[in-house]
Amino acid sequence: MKRVPLRSLLIAVGLALPFSLQAGNTPAAVPATKTPSPKYVFLFIGDGMSMTQVNSAEIYAKAIGSKEVGIKKLGFSQFPVAGMTTTYEAGSFITDSASAGTAMASGNKTLSGIINMDPGKTRKFATIAEQAKAAGYKIGIVSSVSLDHATPASFYAKVPSRGDMYDIAVQLTQSGFDYFGGGGFAQPKGKNKDKADVIDLARQSGYTYVNSREAFQALKPISGKVLAVNATLQDASAMPYEMDRKPDDLSLADYTRKGIELLDNKKGFFMMVEGGKIDWAGHANDAMANISDVIALDNAVAEAVAFQSRHPNETLILVTGDHETGGMSIGFAGTKYATFYDKVSKQTMSFQAFTDGFMKQYKAEHKGTGSFADVIPVIEKTFGLDFAKMSSDEKTQIERAFVRSMGGEIEKNPLENDYLLYGGYDPLTVKLTQILNQHAGIGWTTYSHTGVPVVTFAKGAGQELFGGYYDNTDIYRKLVRLMKLRVNANSTVAAN
Ligand SMILES: [Zn+2]
Repeated sequence: MKRVPLRSLLIAVGLALPFSLQAGNTPAAVPATKTPSPKYVFLFIGDGMSMTQVNSAEIYAKAIGSKEVGIKKLGFSQFPVAGMTTTYEAGSFITDSASAGTAMASGNKTLSGIINMDPGKTRKFATIAEQAKAAGYKIGIVSSVSLDHATPASFYAKVPSRGDMYDIAVQLTQSGFDYFGGGGFAQPKGKNKDKADVIDLARQSGYTYVNSREAFQALKPISGKVLAVNATLQDASAMPYEMDRKPDDLSLADYTRKGIELLDNKKGFFMMVEGGKIDWAGHANDAMANISDVIALDNAVAEAVAFQSRHPNETLILVTGDHETGGMSIGFAGTKYATFYDKVSKQTMSFQAFTDGFMKQYKAEHKGTGSFADVIPVIEKTFGLDFAKMSSDEKTQIERAFVRSMGGEIEKNPLENDYLLYGGYDPLTVKLTQILNQHAGIGWTTYSHTGVPVVTFAKGAGQELFGGYYDNTDIYRKLVRLMKLRVNANSTVAAN
């Protein structure tokens, strides 16, 4: 039976369409396709990854080996099809990961902070992963940040607030999905640590839980449903930044490859893999951490490409972003038309590792007695900055940030806008990455997200649907059409 689109029904009864239903939801936006349904679908999401982040990784990859102007393309930026994707949410041009995740996972616009519910927080939306599961696909969800974070949660949870991380984790254990891998849980026992441990709940629901490299590597398809949490967690139960990852730590590519091994079956699978810390590095204005996590995502995509080479006509690989973060730009006022991307390669650890490591210890040991001269050699070694070659203004900025970090000057300047200067991060650390990035010709405009569109790259069965300029909710619609899934009852799209 042909389903009547909700949009037509609303128009027929003379109801005004709310903005969220009008935008980009025309059924005609999805052309009919004769492509056979892909049996294996990969959706890679670079959180906070727009074209600037992708291109920066490409410029960097070339710049570290050559003085010639040029780029070294990533694997996924060589995919045969690329489209541009708008990311605005129901109340703002600037989305967060909850509303962006909801858009891609369920085809509906909602407000920032909400996961798979309407802006009024009453209706719940079915997700592409749930629909694929119902159609017989196995489902995998991988993220480098905690598994209860907004992007992974958008594929299995429905909550009025992304902050309800315990509720989200409980919904994970009830999802019946086949494979969860990557980071841990932000609130495994709830906000007050007085609830049942979600790991126990997962085990009760039949999940095999692993937390070590050895146990992870021993996983086999007969292990059944799997919950694999990385042995090393850095900040907020996330995997380490790629640039801080030790050789023994598992990578996003390892979690992707294992997912393929565990999920591979005759009926097919859907796997979402998130590079979540691209976003976190963007918030902190740390280009080197940002670039290395984009490269880590590309390495994960390479695992899917290797799988696809064995199943060329049955596999679709999508790589997109949920929004841009940081207002990252190739170009800075101080360097005009020049860039020097090789300079960021001198940075030896992420802003987070420097804040949690050196800064934390130095502050603890030098309460009120810290000296700027002490830290200069450490700064030069960690960030590749040469104080002898810096302007006096830059040196002043760094010293002021150091004093801020040590807590000395805050009372003296109550009116100074610390947020604009430091974004809530450790003042010295954020100032160092900002100045290093400025030397490289990389600009940042915000510590939050921006409203610029992202790029969606596609390769494989059904790739042709993903060219052009479309909305993030269309990613859901195109996938539903391609995978011939039952349409989400709450979606505004026609069944056929
Ligand atoms: Zn973010």
